[in-house]
Amino acid sequence: MENLILFLKKRKIKYFKNKDIKGYTTIKIGGKVSLIIIINTYSKLIELILKVKKQKYPFILLGGGSNVVFPDNNSKLVVIINKTSNITRLSGNLIKINSGVTIKNLTKWCVGNKIGDLEFLSGIPGTIGGATAVNAGAFGKSVSDNLEKAEILTEKGEIKIVDKKYFRFEYRNSIFKYGKEVILNVFLQYINQNENKIKEKITSHIRHRKQSHPSYKCFTAGCFFKNPVKNNKRISAGEIIEDSRLKGFHDNNLLMSEKHSNFLINKGNASFRDLIDFENNITQEILKSEGIKLEREVIYITSDGEKC
Ligand SMILES: Cc1cc2nc3c(=O)[nH]c(=O)nc-3n(C[C@H](O)[C@H](O)[C@H](O)COP(=O)(O)OP(=O)(O)OC[C@H]3O[C@@H](n4cnc5c(N)ncnc54)[C@H](O)[C@@H]3O)c2cc1C
Repeated sequence: MENLILFLKKRKIKYFKNKDIKGYTTIKIGGKVSLIIIINTYSKLIELILKVKKQKYPFILLGGGSNVVFPDNNSKLVVIINKTSNITRLSGNLIKINSGVTIKNLTKWCVGNKIGDLEFLSGIPGTIGGATAVNAGAFGKSVSDNLEKAEILTEKGEIKIVDKKYFRFEYRNSIFKYGKEVILNVFLQYINQNENKIKEKITSHIRHRKQSHPSYKCFTAGCFFKNPVKNNKRISAGEIIEDSRLKGFHDNNLLMSEKHSNFLINKGNASFRDLIDFENNITQEILKSEGIKLEREVIYITSDGEKC
C-alpha cells in the first residue's frame, strides 16, 4: 500500500487511510476500508485505476454511493470516489459527460443549455456513471433509452468506445453493475428544448418525488427491491409490501418508509448484519404470503471487493 500512497502524494490526490466508508454512502452502513481516494480529473482517474490494477489491490469505484452497502468488518479495500466533472455538447444532438458528473449538476447544466429529454433523471442521487452502470431510471424512462455509446476502461486496462449493446442493459442492470470495467464518459442523446419546458418537467418530477419518497435526509439506498414481473408485467415491489402484513414493518435499527414501502431506512446505527436480517424477513414473508420472490436492487459489496 505504501507504493500507492507515494503515488497519491506525488500526484497530489486526496486520500484517507483506514477510514469509515459509511460516510460515502447514502445508507450510512459499513466499516473501515484501507484507502478512500477522491479523484477529480479524467486523466488521474485512468492513471489511478491502472496503478491499482497493476498492484492487484481489491478496489471499488463509487459515484455517489447511493446504491451500495458495505460490510461491517474492516476491509483491505481501496475505494475510489469519482468526482470527474466535465460535460461537453457535441454535434448530432449528443452530450459527452464525465462519469463522475452528478445527476444534480447534469440536470442543472441541461436547463441552462436547453437540453431536453433527460429530465426523468432529476432527483436521482449519485453520478451519471453510477446511473449508467445500474441503468437507473424513473417516470418510465431509463439511462439506456438515451445512451448512444460510452468510453470505458476494460479489465485489461484498455480504453475503448463501446456501443449500447455492449452494456447488455436490463431493467436496473448492466454488465457494469456487478463488473469491474469502468465507465469513463457517457454519450447521451438529447433533444433541443425550451428552457421553461425543461424546468416545468423537472419541477413536476421533483414534486412527485417529494410526495411519494422519504426525505433525502433519510439514510437509504433508494428502492431496495426490484419491481418483480408478474404475468409478463412489472409490478411495484413497494405496493406488494404495502399490501402485505409487513406494512410499517420495523425493528430497532431499520424501518420501511411510511411513504414508500420499498425504501428501507437505517435509523442511524444499523449494521450490515441488521440489514441482511431485515431483508430476509421481508423476502421470506412476501414469498410465503404472495408467492413472489423479491430480488434485491441495491448492491452489496464484499470485503474482497466483489459486488453482489
Ligand atoms: C433517495 C434515493 C432515491 C433514489 N431514486 C432512484 C430512482 O428514482 N431511480 C433509480 O434507478 N435509482 C434511484 N436511487 C438509487 C441510486 O441513486 C441510483 O441507482 C444511482 O444512479 C446510483 O448512482 P451512484 O453514482 O450513487 O452509484 P454508486 O452507488 O456509487 O454505484 C453503484 C454501482 O455502479 C458502479 N459504478 C459507479 N460508477 C461507475 C463507473 N463510472 N463505471 C463503472 N461502474 C460504476 C459501482 O461500482 C456500483 O456497482 C435512489 C437512491 C436514493 C438514496
